[in-house]
Amino acid sequence: MNKETFCKELEKLGITLKEEQLSALEVYCNYLLEVNMHTNLTAIKEEEQVYLKHFYDSLTLVKAIDLKNVNTVIDIGSGAGFPGLVLKIVFPNLEVTLLDSNNKKINFLKDLIKKLGIKGVHLVHGRAEDFVKDHRETFDLVTGRAVSNMSILSELCLPFTKKEGYFIALKGANEEEIEDAKKAIQILGGEIENRIKFKLPIEESERNIIKIKKVKRTLDIYPRRFEKIRKSPLK
Ligand code: SAM
Repeated sequence: MNKETFCKELEKLGITLKEEQLSALEVYCNYLLEVNMHTNLTAIKEEEQVYLKHFYDSLTLVKAIDLKNVNTVIDIGSGAGFPGLVLKIVFPNLEVTLLDSNNKKINFLKDLIKKLGIKGVHLVHGRAEDFVKDHRETFDLVTGRAVSNMSILSELCLPFTKKEGYFIALKGANEEEIEDAKKAIQILGGEIENRIKFKLPIEESERNIIKIKKVKRTLDIYPRRFEKIRKSPLK
């Protein structure tokens, strides 16, 4: 997706980028591709693919929620900043926490944020299951893209979500995975409010956005230790 098509497709999502936001994304893309030559941050190696599969894909979250009315966001397993940092660049009103267990990725984000001069981004090197201990039920919005299957991701994300707040997962084609996670979502205090199915422009691969409302507090026994979550996902 070239930059012109990127801007046109964003207009269809109701997003008009300012000149400085487009420049920030250019710096982001260049630095990502530069660092990625020697440090493994993403499988994507071409500029047009970064605009489509990282930047545009991250911003499709606006199909599910009006980000102008959101204050605090935590992006679980943010990697090289997707979707969390892209959201922050386009919606500067957000106070964003980017969490990842991979320190190389957190260091990349630290350098990038410095380069961009962005304020209001908190970087956390750690595991979701650990960081949640002091941050239960505190975020208006919790996001996760390409971290794990829906049941595991729900156990990592819903304990962070404030009551009446949202956990939104950006997923590919995954009917079965979502069906399998329904019980887990309910146990964790969530309720699926909306499922938005669409195709990514140009390459037309399927996407699903799962919007989950936090309707009641998550019991303190969740999340369990990661080994336990992985070996026996909630059903
Ligand atoms: N969200 C990014 C994206 O869409 O490009 C990164 C996806 S990458 C495939 C998954 C990331 O989740 C990795 O960077 C990994 O370190 C992180 N991760 C996996 N499990 C985690 C956990 N329990 N706590 C924190 N980070 C985790």
